[in-house]
Amino acid sequence: MDQQLEKVYEAVIARNPGEAEFHQAVREVLESLGPVINRHPEYLDMKMLERICEPERQIIFRVPWMDDKGEVHINRGFRVEFNSALGPYKGGLRFHPSVYLGVIKFLGFEQIFKNSLTGLPIGGGKGGSDFDPRGKSDAEVMRFCQSFMTELYRHLGEYTDVPAGDIGVGGREIGYMFGQYKRITNRYESGVLTGKGIGWGGSLVRTEATGYGTVVFANEMLKTRGESFDGKRVMVSGSGNVAIYAAEKAAQLGATVVGFSDSSGYVVDDKGIDLDLLKQIKEVERGRVSDYVDRRSSAKLGTSGSIWDVPVDVALPCATQNELNGEQAATLVKNGVKAVAEGANMPTTPEGIHVFQEAGVLYGPGKAANAGGVATSALEMQQNASRDSWSFEHTEERLTEIMQNIHEQCAVTADSYDAPGDYVVGANIAGFEKVAKAIQA
Ligand code: GLU
Repeated sequence: MDQQLEKVYEAVIARNPGEAEFHQAVREVLESLGPVINRHPEYLDMKMLERICEPERQIIFRVPWMDDKGEVHINRGFRVEFNSALGPYKGGLRFHPSVYLGVIKFLGFEQIFKNSLTGLPIGGGKGGSDFDPRGKSDAEVMRFCQSFMTELYRHLGEYTDVPAGDIGVGGREIGYMFGQYKRITNRYESGVLTGKGIGWGGSLVRTEATGYGTVVFANEMLKTRGESFDGKRVMVSGSGNVAIYAAEKAAQLGATVVGFSDSSGYVVDDKGIDLDLLKQIKEVERGRVSDYVDRRSSAKLGTSGSIWDVPVDVALPCATQNELNGEQAATLVKNGVKAVAEGANMPTTPEGIHVFQEAGVLYGPGKAANAGGVATSALEMQQNASRDSWSFEHTEERLTEIMQNIHEQCAVTADSYDAPGDYVVGANIAGFEKVAKAIQA
């Protein structure tokens, strides 16, 4: 890393102790920015990097709620309003026991650059709670969401801060939170949350958008080498809406998707996964991967190693941060992987990224490859602002164009900084430049 940037990085660590994921995300961006500060030394005088690494506002709050037996629980809620140079803070809410400030800050930091790449007017933010929705009844999730929103609402607004879903937060949770916001404020402010239901201000394609967009991005990368998804063996990790719809789009483009996973294990299905069955188990029954194996004779439960031991042409990590390490990346490379595109946020460790790039594998980082989700959220905000709702076809067309444009921006930026084919450099610099120019202005 450039020496001046190394100093910035060390100051970020000293100021934010114990936040490993945030440090990792900051390091990955700063490592790309040496050539930018050489071209724009004024950024150093303006403390541009220190500014971008310091959230504009960080909110931590208590969330008390009562379970079905009448017992009271206390969780912690977070909203990090990271950067509003390009628009209102925008980014999801994550409900997962691993959530603490360092996770929300890493996600919020990534969101600044991702949202900038979409070309739409949205700043970066993220929030969530250490609440674990798994095993909770509907009524418990509802009471938690209402309590969470009872504090969060005062920080939100369609021109201020617009949350959406992330891990553990889907249409059900957005519904409970939107209802509570509406009740407290007495405003039908559709654009204050995205990922809403289709009957009450949601956008078609929002559910599919992150996964579809990741595959569009991967397909653009493959095209640069004269290839496509047709006939490829593809692996997705995870089995949430990102993984399911990445698998659906890859299959539509002629690929065979041979597996998926959840925190309890992974499944290999050489015939190609049965998406209707997977959707039934995950979206309707909220079941586990073993339920899939019980109902599909061609599927096997992975018993040793990891999902990344299975030989595939394209790997789409769509589960969570740091799920694919250096060793697993080396196994994928040994088995001939051609492209990796991240549906999750920061799923590949720094060692893993290094392995892919050294081997010349096409590697699309999350902040570019998974930007289709938040981009479609911004399209949902557009529909809300104009009191309109678009068709599936029109919305998907917009999403595809946005993803192709992000790919193009990354490729052109990487070329102009003498790093052809390096999508990490391309995404970090293209995302950063737009935000920096807006701050400067
Ligand atoms: N949680 C998603 C992400 O990581 C989407 C955020 C949004 O739609 O605001 O980008």
